[in-house]
Amino acid sequence: MTRELAESTLDRFRVRLEDEHDRLTEILEELEEDLETSRMTETAAERSPDPGNAEAGSMKFEYEKERSLGENTRDLLRKVERAQERMDEGKYGICERCGKAIPVARLEAIPYATFCVEDAAKR
Ligand SMILES: [Zn+2]
Repeated sequence: MTRELAESTLDRFRVRLEDEHDRLTEILEELEEDLETSRMTETAAERSPDPGNAEAGSMKFEYEKERSLGENTRDLLRKVERAQERMDEGKYGICERCGKAIPVARLEAIPYATFCVEDAAKR
């Protein structure tokens, strides 16, 4: 089954995916830098003579928060790349599981969706 999406509609989603890809890559790069900084700060804090250092505790919290943000961002980036692959294969807008067309309204909301609503809910 092929998806009947107008070339102009496809182009619009292609641009949105590229923008999203750039945005996520940038966030990840910034996070990497921040994590590098927190790692160094954390090591310095561990050497600190004051074990009850509140600053170190909050640093650790920030570090954990950024690490989970990084995981979410990487996950999202993978989805965007997957949607871009589907687009290259001419299968953009087709559910990966059931092969049905994904409604344009869903793609408008989530341009990187590669599953229909039903199948996305089953995952
Ligand atoms: Zn489906």
